[in-house]
Amino acid sequence: MLAADGVILHHAKVLWRVIHGHGELDLASRDFLPPLKRWVADSVGEGKRFFLDAPELVDEIYSSDGLTRKFLLRLRDGQTIETVLMAYAGRHTVCVSTQAGCAMGCVFCATGQMGFVRHLRPGEIIAQVLHVRRVLKAIDPKKRLRNMVLMGMGEPLHNYDSVMAALETISDRRGSGIGPTRISISTVGVVPAILRLAEEERPYCLAVSLHGSTEEERAALVPASKRWPLAMLIDACRRYAVITRRRIFFEWTLIAGKNDSPETAKRLLELLSGIDAHINLIPLNPTGGFAGLQSDAGHEFQKILIAGGIPCTFRQRRGIDVAAGCGMLRAERRLK
Ligand code: SAH
Ligand code: SF4
Repeated sequence: MLAADGVILHHAKVLWRVIHGHGELDLASRDFLPPLKRWVADSVGEGKRFFLDAPELVDEIYSSDGLTRKFLLRLRDGQTIETVLMAYAGRHTVCVSTQAGCAMGCVFCATGQMGFVRHLRPGEIIAQVLHVRRVLKAIDPKKRLRNMVLMGMGEPLHNYDSVMAALETISDRRGSGIGPTRISISTVGVVPAILRLAEEERPYCLAVSLHGSTEEERAALVPASKRWPLAMLIDACRRYAVITRRRIFFEWTLIAGKNDSPETAKRLLELLSGIDAHINLIPLNPTGGFAGLQSDAGHEFQKILIAGGIPCTFRQRRGIDVAAGCGMLRAERRLK
């Protein structure tokens, strides 16, 4: 695109290396050769032909164990989004937002309760990864960001085209170079988009947020399941698994008295029978009147699944002490 817009191919490559390779968004202060410097001055910036989605850091908080850092970033129009850097067992993972707010309205989710504001552009998704890379580099230049999850604010498959464009850039070896199999897309279950991922042979990992083992149980927590019922979702997952031959991760936020009983665990086993599945149990970050489980209460649930042959692990409550549920920091700060 740049090459066709008055920049010679060599300059386009230089710009790509600076922006995506080095994560540098302040082009004006770079020591480019005069022709490229002139092009940047003429073409990049407010009111010009191109602009860079460089968000402003509004707030940054750390978990008490120091392993999770959450950033509140302000976009050009004043909207704020959350991005998280997690460091566990020597592995660094970025968790990005794909929308401001979310249209899906899950009852236990702070972002869902905000409602939908807008989709993020590809540049706004990429900029979150670049921000986290810069932070990591400042901590230790030898550390590399190798993993990415789309589990921040928003529903990634509701913003399909922008998310795919962003992921192609982020996984490019000449840029952030996060391997596609180390990128996980988490979805509430947008059925047509799950099938599209398979048909387009997108190489990313798929995580499906399930939370309910019957139509009724799920619909009480996830309003989007009225549009894409559980039976339709599981059918789409089976087709995805057949086409891609990949394991599917299922996320299950455990909510006391809603979806934590042994009967539910047994139904879940039946529902997923025949699918190469892994279940991630997520302890609820309490919001809007919903209660998390007492410690250890989810282990019975986990035991039943494992005994039934489905690998099942607990997601760490990475930094519950830093308003860690997605959307909770923005809600707490009462920002736009
Ligand atoms: N929209 C996508 C991705 C963002 S939400 C999705 O729903 O999958 C990422 C994960 O966080 C989902 O599994 C969601 O169910 C979970 N989540 C949202 N609010 C939570 C809360 N308060 N406590 C625990 N998990 C929560
Ligand atoms: Fe949206 Fe995911 Fe939150 Fe549901 S859990 S409201 S889909 S961000």
